[in-house]
Amino acid sequence: MFRNTDEDKNLAPAGYIFPPPQVNSVPILRTEQRFPIRRVFCVGRNYAEHAKEMGASPERGQRPVFFTKPADAVISDGLPTRYPSATANLHFEIELVVALHSGGENIAIEQALSHVFGYAVGNDLTRRDLQLEAKHAGLPWDISKAFDQSAAVSAIATAADIGHPSAGAISLDVNGKRRQTADIADLLWSVPEIIHELSKLFCLSAGDLIFTGTPAGVGALARGDLLIGHIAGVGELTHSIC
Ligand code: MN
Repeated sequence: MFRNTDEDKNLAPAGYIFPPPQVNSVPILRTEQRFPIRRVFCVGRNYAEHAKEMGASPERGQRPVFFTKPADAVISDGLPTRYPSATANLHFEIELVVALHSGGENIAIEQALSHVFGYAVGNDLTRRDLQLEAKHAGLPWDISKAFDQSAAVSAIATAADIGHPSAGAISLDVNGKRRQTADIADLLWSVPEIIHELSKLFCLSAGDLIFTGTPAGVGALARGDLLIGHIAGVGELTHSIC
């Protein structure tokens, strides 16, 4: 973190007033290399049963509901996640995460999967109380979704190793109790459709991560909780709340 100390100034490379932030990254399974993160896109309301439990329509809208998190909000598998400030209702949302190694604009559905490097298990942590306030007031979701350490992500399984899963059980256990369970085949917008729609709005790029939405069963977390998320054929995410 930049604190404007003399030491920080001395570390700044020529042309910068302080050291540029480091690129955040996540590990890749079966290799020592890491995946550098450029941006984090997220899809909301992408399982009918979850849309219903949030009081929204279980149908697909005109386009997916998109929001974003900063790249430095990503926290890797196994690291304790800090319970954030300013909420009394921190929720878990287990999700399939897509990692891109290339991109572009207006990507055709048929070409979309060629841009996918791999897949991971993610937890889209949410200050639900602030999100509900924002929804009621017609305000942006940022403070409820884009806070520090709000995006837990497992190591990435490469498409070269696992292919492109379009079905498979997704689940989350909290303290050994099953809290969310579904199948990624039930995504309202499929991975190719999400990439196609997102690329109409942004020029997608290598390093982009996409959280694809959570199934039903979301609920509150407390300090000390241990979370284990699993997607068949993809991997596992383990983290605790401190
Ligand atoms: Mn989500």
